[in-house]
Amino acid sequence: MLDKVVIANRGEIALRILRACKELGIKTVAVHSQVDRDLMHVRLADESVCIGPNPSQKSYLNIPAIISAAEVTDAAGIHPGYGFLAENADFAEQVEQSGFVFIGPTPDIIRLMGDKISAIKTMKKIGIPVVPGSNGVLPKDKQKILKIARDIGYPIIIKAAGGGGGRGMHVVKNEATLLNSIALTKAEAKSAFDNDAVYLEKYLENPRHIEIQVLADNHGNVIHLGDRDCSVQRRHQKIIEEAPAPGIPADLRRNIAKSCVDACLKVGYRGAGTFEFLFEEGQFYFIEMNTRIQVEHPVTEMVTGVDIIKEQLRIASGETLSITQKSVKITGHAIECRVNAEDPASFLPYPGKVTYFHAPGGPGVRIDSHLYSGYSIPPFYDSLIGKLIAHSDTRESALAKMRQVLDEIVIEGIRTNVPLHRDIMRDGQFIDGEICIHYLERKLQN
Ligand code: ADP
Repeated sequence: MLDKVVIANRGEIALRILRACKELGIKTVAVHSQVDRDLMHVRLADESVCIGPNPSQKSYLNIPAIISAAEVTDAAGIHPGYGFLAENADFAEQVEQSGFVFIGPTPDIIRLMGDKISAIKTMKKIGIPVVPGSNGVLPKDKQKILKIARDIGYPIIIKAAGGGGGRGMHVVKNEATLLNSIALTKAEAKSAFDNDAVYLEKYLENPRHIEIQVLADNHGNVIHLGDRDCSVQRRHQKIIEEAPAPGIPADLRRNIAKSCVDACLKVGYRGAGTFEFLFEEGQFYFIEMNTRIQVEHPVTEMVTGVDIIKEQLRIASGETLSITQKSVKITGHAIECRVNAEDPASFLPYPGKVTYFHAPGGPGVRIDSHLYSGYSIPPFYDSLIGKLIAHSDTRESALAKMRQVLDEIVIEGIRTNVPLHRDIMRDGQFIDGEICIHYLERKLQN
């Protein structure tokens, strides 16, 4: 087992990784920006290193500083968490070239899947269904672009090959605005992702977002941990996730999960990963693969009992997976609400000092959060401040448990989206499971 790991992240996921390391007897190194020295995991880590000033570019995205921290603390591996450098193939490569273990897939696979166009092409070649689209980067010729779009049929979504986090996408309803929107998306993609390649996909009107969690070790073992539904989104960003995805026929569920396992074997995947699909009228359409731990991993952990981060650490240590496909059993239903420090009406970030924090509890309740009373949320980073997870034997009872969790939680001093979650958990349409990716935007318009 790796004996010491640098946690190259912050907030709730850094604390989650620290806990898994401690349970496995792995020493931990927290790396943090100046303002983040008061983070809970920094206090709990065996060692900590300040890697730079507050802006992410100077700290959490500062590759030489993170690698130096691993060097000075004599660490064995680096866990990137999610966001920041988690899907940066150059980072993974430099980590390995500097003699450390990158806790994630190989740089080649990160590169292949990180470019959405190459990911889609790869999946299509190995028989995974994809959304009808341009099958690659768009040609320069305007007439050719218009022809491709006509063949796909409107509405169309323009997507940046290097996009992520719900950014770099534009929906076009008809031909009149297509070329302008492409130019706009290219410009945005160039500045946000330093890659102006864009492609077109059919814009599905009422799909659900369903994803499959996989784990693969270095010894040829690949398993899946079932599916999650992440259809409750705002601006293409997930807010609520659940496992298993409600109402999917057993054969469809089995087949898509098996295809993902086969795909991992074919591309030589290693580590934890997620295949993301849109699901409409009984059909799955691949949209992208995330080559890292995801924010919503706890719902899968709750229904399978598998600790995905511990498995990541085992895989990176060269061990075999601790479970086989046969031993994976999906038990009950789990739901997660992402708590953001933001104004519940305007959705604008609301950083500041948490004057009082009370965490709910009880059987089947899990709170993944770095908050504590007196903690000041800095304005420099993502507004996610924690995740509330409820697990019970049925979806109905998991929702009842989540309503209780949301009624009990107290976060004072800042504003959060807890009122929105309370509202959704009591919304008939959500309770009936009759939702698609547009559910929340439509609800907010009413
Ligand atoms: P990101 O990498 O930014 O998360 P994704 O490709 O995973 O982008 O898409 C994020 C979300 O955008 C999806 O969950 C879905 O809500 C919406 N979306 C993406 N592609 C399509 C499409 N072809 N049709 C309709 N909605 C889409």
